Amino acid sequence: MPAISGKMEFDTAWSYAPAPENADHIVLKKRYELFITGKFVKPQSGKYFETLNPATGKPLAKVAEGSEADIDKAVKAARKAYTNHWSKLPAKERGKYIFRLARMIQERAREFAVIESLDGGKAIRESKGVDIPLAAAHFFYYAGWADKLNYAFPNTNPSSLGVAGQIIPWNFPLLMAAWKLAPALATGNTVVLKPAETTPLTAMKLAELIQDCDFPPGVVNIVTGAGATGAALVNHPDVDKIAFTGSTEVGKLIRRATAGTQKKITLELGGKAANIIFEDAPLDQAVEGIINGIYFNQGHVCCAGSRLLVQESVKEVIIRKLKDRMETLIVGDPLDKNTDIGAINSQQQLATIEAYLKLGQAEGAEMFQSSCPVPQNGGYWVRPTLFLNASQSHRIVQEEIFGPVLAVQSFRTVDEAVKKANNTHYGLSAGVWTDKGSKIFQMTQKMRAGVIWANTYNKFDPTAPFGGYKESGFGREGGLHGLMPYLKM
Ligand code: NAP
Ligand code: MG
Repeated sequence: MPAISGKMEFDTAWSYAPAPENADHIVLKKRYELFITGKFVKPQSGKYFETLNPATGKPLAKVAEGSEADIDKAVKAARKAYTNHWSKLPAKERGKYIFRLARMIQERAREFAVIESLDGGKAIRESKGVDIPLAAAHFFYYAGWADKLNYAFPNTNPSSLGVAGQIIPWNFPLLMAAWKLAPALATGNTVVLKPAETTPLTAMKLAELIQDCDFPPGVVNIVTGAGATGAALVNHPDVDKIAFTGSTEVGKLIRRATAGTQKKITLELGGKAANIIFEDAPLDQAVEGIINGIYFNQGHVCCAGSRLLVQESVKEVIIRKLKDRMETLIVGDPLDKNTDIGAINSQQQLATIEAYLKLGQAEGAEMFQSSCPVPQNGGYWVRPTLFLNASQSHRIVQEEIFGPVLAVQSFRTVDEAVKKANNTHYGLSAGVWTDKGSKIFQMTQKMRAGVIWANTYNKFDPTAPFGGYKESGFGREGGLHGLMPYLKM
């Protein structure tokens, strides 16, 4: 075999034939209505907006724009379903509906995965391998708790709250819907869900399954729309609980809007996680962890390892390995099974990321991007990027970019690593790579992050609680903790 010496030979050796996922079986409607009282109904304003495929910039479907009047209708439907039906149903029966929904998601997993990738731009490998199976797993997990709440929280006599208003972002559309719906329904609440504007399609597909499962009408209502639709849900006086996942900026607005009301709230907000590599770490695995932490899913991950903190003695070797690995990443068609990095979710998000790329250079950091080709087709693309010589005060180190952009810093001692890791407004997640268990415990005691992965990154499980410190929000989703915000005890 000839030696792989130059770029040309490298390309030839490692280029793959296209392997597109078949999308022929996908049937999208031209227009999606609101899902209220178990039926698809027109928005009262008669207004619709387009959802695009970010890999082409072309529209996929029109989606109803819910107004304050539609939110009111949905909340009334949820209240009625709560009072007349869902709160009276034996818990075991509630669980059966949720189990049924979980099974149906599994049966239709391929369809959901393709729609998620079409509407949101994420690589099919992610939507098929992560998003959809995890969404089903959340429904299975919480279905199991429905009739065991007295065992989960002994001597507290837990009971439901009533109507939950839930607002979700565009980075894990179906999975976020599952994180929200599964615990709310299992604890006996009814729901009004507001999906993100750029990724409403899997939520609407879920509405079809909810109909097929024969859920009592009004138990789940889905109102698509823009920020104003979400705000109307937050401000509705007959909502008992708001669960929000999204940006810190909107989280603060919601905090203000609900202050002084009886509404319970949980906020899952942004992050700027440090992925910390010690010199005794398994370096090749750590490089994979860095790649997985920031580049997969286009960096559209709240807990993305967007800051790399590497011990000085191994900095050079890590950067060399990282750059080599970045050169092998494939940016392109989200439906291709070889694609590592799909399309950026929207033109607006692309503009945000591009502004940070300029800013990072203006701040004095040194930018490196892989040389991979990107499609020239009107879609939204960013090459995997890293910034060397970033310093703690740089905005690219402090602010959430929400794209495939990594800021690299170095450290010498454990204390310095902890200080740098903690020195942002956020505190959602972090990673620690070392072969010393004691060092992991030492770090995790001192770090202010809701989730800390050790020698791995971005691993999720429905049984594990997830949530932030500081401006990353409060309250936990997942696990037993995820039931609590939906219960009176
Ligand atoms: P976003 O702009 O805050 O939007 C989130 C949701 O809130 C969307 O459905 C949005 O509707 C809606 N919304 C916008 N303005 C609102 C308002 N004034 N009142 C009520 N709802 C409003 O966030 P995003 O850009 O979609 O998502 C990215 C952010 O989510 C990142 O910061 C990321 O870190 C965070 N995130 C956090 C977690 C976590 O678990 N901590 C998980 C995933 C994502 P529109 O879509 O119509 O704007
Ligand atoms: Mg879209």
